[in-house]
Amino acid sequence: MTSSSRIFHRQPGAAYPVAVSGDGPWLIDADGRRYLDACGGAAVSCLGHSDAMVRAAIRAQVDDLAYAHSAFFTTRPAEDLADHLITRAAARIPDNRLSRVYLVSGGSEAAEAALKLARQYFLEAGEPTRHRIIARRQSYHGNTLGALAVGGNQWRRAPFEPMLMPATHIAPCYPYRDRRDDETEEAYGQRVADDLDATIRTLGPETVAAFIAEPVVGATGGAVPAVPGYLRRIREICDRHGVLLILDEVMCGMGRTGHLFACAEDGVSPDILMIAKGLGAGYQPIGAMLCSDRIYDTIVTGSGFFQHGHTYLGHVTACAGALAVQRRIEADDLLANVRTQGAALRAALEAAFGDHPHVGDIRGRGLILGLELVADRATKAPFDPAVRLHARVKGEAMARGLMCYPMGGTIDGRQGDHIMLAPPFILGPEHIPEIVDRLAGALDAALEGAT
Ligand code: PLP
Repeated sequence: MTSSSRIFHRQPGAAYPVAVSGDGPWLIDADGRRYLDACGGAAVSCLGHSDAMVRAAIRAQVDDLAYAHSAFFTTRPAEDLADHLITRAAARIPDNRLSRVYLVSGGSEAAEAALKLARQYFLEAGEPTRHRIIARRQSYHGNTLGALAVGGNQWRRAPFEPMLMPATHIAPCYPYRDRRDDETEEAYGQRVADDLDATIRTLGPETVAAFIAEPVVGATGGAVPAVPGYLRRIREICDRHGVLLILDEVMCGMGRTGHLFACAEDGVSPDILMIAKGLGAGYQPIGAMLCSDRIYDTIVTGSGFFQHGHTYLGHVTACAGALAVQRRIEADDLLANVRTQGAALRAALEAAFGDHPHVGDIRGRGLILGLELVADRATKAPFDPAVRLHARVKGEAMARGLMCYPMGGTIDGRQGDHIMLAPPFILGPEHIPEIVDRLAGALDAALEGAT
């Protein structure tokens, strides 16, 4: 499509290929070119692009009923999806607290709901001074103003800074850059988690409502998992000060790490959990916020009304699609494939790029993997942002029929460009060399002229 397009594209005037169909992990454009989707768009398309069972479920739902407003009705697909999320996913978290599901249309809506619920909970629990939100400098929670205000992505925040509500940002868990040589991963995790304790004490615990974080940082980090023990310490600190823990699994949740909820592997239950992306696998736009009985009961016995809502809450077609996605993942044991192929892809990345002079770090969990690109491996110095290396890699990868998710450095000016891979859970061993070879070609081409 040329700039004569009437669509206000993300990058107005840019020429985008026209996507017309899907074939498993491949996307096909109007010229018949095939793109191997190694990032699920933005970690969305976890079943690829042509799942027959999901498409049939959506068609059948539209034939029966396409929409019913949530202020008037509930629906079977919405009830069944909520039940699935609690009994099949949340129930696997050790000491699980999550028992209720609020169904929205995407990740930013889940963030807005989570922040407002945290505030309303404290109002109704008789602690009206609690309103502050603490987040991390390396984080992304969405692009709406509330979500942006708690996010730490400086590039996304900068133009809107005067419009953002105040939030406090603490150190991320970013071992590649911040762990000291004489420190174990665990010791490092405890040290940075303790920044939360100090910050809550400084602000005054009676003013703090919640701490929000991604268990695996996605868009702002290039797949940076918290080190073992970090989230458990965070959980203890939140409990000590009566602060709610909101985990944002919009990107890393719904199976991407090889577990339906990433926090289950960390052994930590939040009070509020956000999910989206993989929930509907892109077949329908859907997200959700899960919360504890304590929060839910406080609202029920208090005002009896969550002062929030959108037109498409619990959209029946989206719920039917998401339910089919989740049943397919369970029926075909795709989480086992995520773990197996995730390990194989990581090993292949390490073999191809482990000694690369401009790949500083290879990291991630399951099928959410990242490479951090640096100008100098010894000093970890990033490339000059003006080079826009990540954008070059994206362009070169697309020219080679590969979709990967690139981002520039966005925290404290000391982070390198990074590339994230989040291929579908149906990935086979035959796709791995194709991803790695095309990525290597794209990186070499992008580095030409950048160094
Ligand atoms: N939270 C995280 C961790 C995300 O990665 C994203 C999107 O990339 C969002 C929230 C926002 O989700 P959405 O783009 O669906 O609004």
